[in-house]
Amino acid sequence: MGRNVLILLGYPGAGKGTQAKEVMRRLCIPQISTGDMLREEIKRKSAYGKAAQELMAAGRFVDDEIVDAIVAGRIRRDDCRKGFILDGYPRTVAQAETFSRGMRTDDRLWVIEISADPEHVMSRLLGRLMCPNSDCTQIYNVHSRAPKVEGFCDKCGSALVHRPDDVMEKIQERFVHYRAKTDPLVEYYKNTGRFRQIDGRPAAAEVTRQLMALIDSEDLEGDMAQPVAKLRKGYIA
Ligand code: ADP
Repeated sequence: MGRNVLILLGYPGAGKGTQAKEVMRRLCIPQISTGDMLREEIKRKSAYGKAAQELMAAGRFVDDEIVDAIVAGRIRRDDCRKGFILDGYPRTVAQAETFSRGMRTDDRLWVIEISADPEHVMSRLLGRLMCPNSDCTQIYNVHSRAPKVEGFCDKCGSALVHRPDDVMEKIQERFVHYRAKTDPLVEYYKNTGRFRQIDGRPAAAEVTRQLMALIDSEDLEGDMAQPVAKLRKGYIA
């Protein structure tokens, strides 16, 4: 049986992580966040973590080979056999091409961009707090999604942290890289016919509603097999 594969695209702060967690709960397929996995590699001081640390701290992209390998390993795990949600991957056309070679013809693919302009997401990122517990990684925001007890995770009680790359200068750097490397990816997926866009500006619950409506839509399911075949062949219109 084919897998349900959801790729979420969007600027840093557009809400990919928040939405991925909600979709994961509803569809019972895991969220695969390359940002979370890389932070975990850094914590473990693995070879990948060492290679990624400086690049991430500077707001730059980690090398494709590292991210491709981490994702490929994660997808092979048993909990992904029915599908998975990719949050933060692919982020370059080269990553998308590598990923597409592992797709199966009966996989069902959705590529959805949560759109949000950089000015709007800047304040979200500056106010973002995250749970550092790798089994939890819940996301909060001091403006819109404050934890019940200030500074502590509602779910697991860990002390929340402000990500070191969520500072003005690093955020601007991340936007520059997104524009240069991920915008072309949007064109890539538009050409496969798999691309949809939703508005990331409303409150999180409304964005989830839009996202689920799109995933549930018959129309999207109907035209699935062929574009996956196109992706496997590396086809671009
Ligand atoms: P955001 O999307 O808000 O910037 P993430 O937690 O998804 O945050 O990613 C944090 C950082 O991890 C990125 O700035 C980048 O350095 C690195 N990273 C994550 N995913 C990728 C990827 N697919 N390719 C290259 N680098 C990545």
